[in-house]
Amino acid sequence: MFALQYVYDTTRGYYANRIIDLRVQFGAHCWFCGKECDPHEEDGKFQFAHRHGFKTKLTGYGRGEANRVHDISNHPISYMLLCDNCHKKYDNLGETT
Ligand SMILES: [Zn+2]
Repeated sequence: MFALQYVYDTTRGYYANRIIDLRVQFGAHCWFCGKECDPHEEDGKFQFAHRHGFKTKLTGYGRGEANRVHDISNHPISYMLLCDNCHKKYDNLGETT
């Protein structure tokens, strides 16, 4: 158990840093309402949303942070940086992410 927890924490640190890089790369603001995003804030208020019509194989929440980071890095055209409010509105337009 201890070893697994250690690996998890190490991985978490790396991907948390990658998320920060990606937020900066995506302009560090919500693409819909323009709300500024602090790249260093904890996950939750800003999310990478799948653009409708640009789906990758990775969809939905909870597929793993590592997979998500790789998918965003490999397919940036498929994602937008949205605040929590706009992400919910966007998803309610039709397709789910
Ligand atoms: Zn917004």
